[in-house]
Amino acid sequence: MKKLIVGLAGNPNVGKTSVFNQLTGMHQHVGNWPGKTVERAEGSFKHGDYEYDIIDLPGNYALSAHTIEEIVSRDFIVDDNSDVIINVVDAANLERNLYLTTQMMELGANLVLALNMNDFAKKKDHFINIELVSELLGFPVVEINAKNKDGFDELLTTVEKVAANPIDSSIKLSYGDELKQHLGELQVIIEQDKSLCDVPSIWTAIKLLEKDSIVIEKVQKSSISSKIMMEVDKIAKHLIDIFDEGAEEVIANARYAFIDGLMAEAVERPSVEKETTSDKIDKIVTNRILAPFIFIFLMWLMFQLTFLIGDPFEQLINQAFNMLGSWVASFISNYYLKAFICDALIGGVGGVISYLPIIFMMFLFLSILEDCGYLARAAFTLDIVMHKIVGLHGKAFIPMILGFGCGVPAIMATRTLESESDRILAMMLVPFMSCTARLPIYAIFTAAFFSQHKGTIMLLMYGLGIVVALIVAAIFKRTIFKGMSSPFVMELPTYKLPSLKGVLLHTWEKAKGFLKKAGTLILVCSMVLWALSIFPMGVNYGSGDSYLGMIGNAIAPIFTPLGFGTWQAAVAIISGLAAKEVVVASFGTIAGMEEIDEEGMSPFLHDLFTPLSAFSFMAFTLLYTPCIATIGAIRQETNSNKWPIIMCAITLTTAYVVSFLIFNVGTLLGFH
Ligand code: GDP
Ligand code: MG
Repeated sequence: MKKLIVGLAGNPNVGKTSVFNQLTGMHQHVGNWPGKTVERAEGSFKHGDYEYDIIDLPGNYALSAHTIEEIVSRDFIVDDNSDVIINVVDAANLERNLYLTTQMMELGANLVLALNMNDFAKKKDHFINIELVSELLGFPVVEINAKNKDGFDELLTTVEKVAANPIDSSIKLSYGDELKQHLGELQVIIEQDKSLCDVPSIWTAIKLLEKDSIVIEKVQKSSISSKIMMEVDKIAKHLIDIFDEGAEEVIANARYAFIDGLMAEAVERPSVEKETTSDKIDKIVTNRILAPFIFIFLMWLMFQLTFLIGDPFEQLINQAFNMLGSWVASFISNYYLKAFICDALIGGVGGVISYLPIIFMMFLFLSILEDCGYLARAAFTLDIVMHKIVGLHGKAFIPMILGFGCGVPAIMATRTLESESDRILAMMLVPFMSCTARLPIYAIFTAAFFSQHKGTIMLLMYGLGIVVALIVAAIFKRTIFKGMSSPFVMELPTYKLPSLKGVLLHTWEKAKGFLKKAGTLILVCSMVLWALSIFPMGVNYGSGDSYLGMIGNAIAPIFTPLGFGTWQAAVAIISGLAAKEVVVASFGTIAGMEEIDEEGMSPFLHDLFTPLSAFSFMAFTLLYTPCIATIGAIRQETNSNKWPIIMCAITLTTAYVVSFLIFNVGTLLGFH
């Protein structure tokens, strides 16, 4: 006989005592919890090879330290040597019941969910996809009826199974990017003290943020308590800045977002009896037919506003740098020194910084959409497409959308994907998104060749990136990244007006990455480019005789089948390896322009490209290897050299194939 200690946990009135009585019959013993005035019912019975010792825990809605009942329950889960916790839930009130479940998941309890009163749920037209709920929670769910003992045998067999192979139920919890990141930071510190590791560090982290008196007392005994508490204060302040709410509310909201996401995915219910505003908005926003149109409209609006507001600022900054350049030039007489400081330094950095307003606006809008809860909805509705066609989790769409801003934060946003292989695949797709650095390229080419259809061509480029990414994903999901990832809950946070401070902080966090890139990488690249253009001594700046021209000439033939086998195009593509902004800068250099203006660039581009080869070139620059910063981000996030290299291979091949098709099919169709 093997002994099993099992606890029955759940909200009041869900049928725990009924289950307990059915199982133990007369073999029970009622007393008090040691030193507490809370009743403790314990009983025993045999099932198969097992001798059960079962404890009916007090009914709770939460596992805070507010009531003795809650403390008794959580102490039982943490301290007593229980094998399994059966969480009895009332199926007709699943949503409310799951709030306690999430907290037991935070504790990593070895759980089995006993779904009681499902007959009531069905009467209310609630249909629960039990299998899916189980997959989303990450532990078994068994339907039972406490009144007539239906499902009890399956329940006990399941309990025996998880007793033999315990499951860490915290794995499938997802509490959103922001909270997850900060909990993670706190967990790392907590895990430095082994004496705190008797419970999952995520539990300690959450409880500290919730100001749980018992956990705080325990942590205060730790040798690193001041370090931990300092981090807790820092995070709590940060959360208030971002969400305009205390950490306790933020955590509670995260739990509800998790539950709402699970309910929306796995439970079919008649429209809610009393609709909240959030429900009403959701009815429209996540409507299967309307959702894609709303999404496209919002994206379109975002791009329109970004340029409408960002453009004038961009020109202002451009002028300022030009003025600075000519002012500084008036003090220097040496030709090379003047060229170095004014063209390479001031021109190079100015060219990049002038895009900051546009990038800032883009991040601002993305942050607003993210913080008000819309992006989560977009991912939720797009999940249907993503899952069926591509085989990726809908959450993979969020990094892709962020990729419209900049690849670096987008790569970092893949952290929300729980499955490692999905995460890596999502990283492979981000580089195909038209980040803001591609915009200057589109701008000079559409001005030169498609001035009548600027908007359409832009949209085509964005669309091309998405379509190519989805095709690549579908191919890879069926080859290298085989195997469907197990489903995870997509949290549905309630809509709220984002706080100004929160949005600005998020925007700043993202824009910071871009500024860093401009300050270091792009500066270095534009200096190298400048040096290659001006040497050997005596050549015309950026001409075919310069080192730059020589390199371009050597590799240009590779691009002949794509329609742009000129050394100038080759040079632009090489320099774009550093950062895509540099593509335009290098055309400027070659054209011998002091400043890049779209009008002036036109005749120069007309010498090099036809409309068809221009389109092919745009597609190539969109799809080929992303900037060094993005490659670096992938390297950092995967902690390997393998994935950045694979990504470069994928993007280069894809770019070559797609441009080849565009140019050759286009030629066959009679375009030129
Ligand atoms: P506890 O508070 O979780 O211990 O719940 P109880 O076992 O005391 O049950 C609360 C009420 O729900 C009692 O009136 C039970 O008779 C009733 N109940 C429990 N399980 C079921 C069930 O499966 N079906 C129905 N119809 N009623 C149930
Ligand atoms: Mg009871």
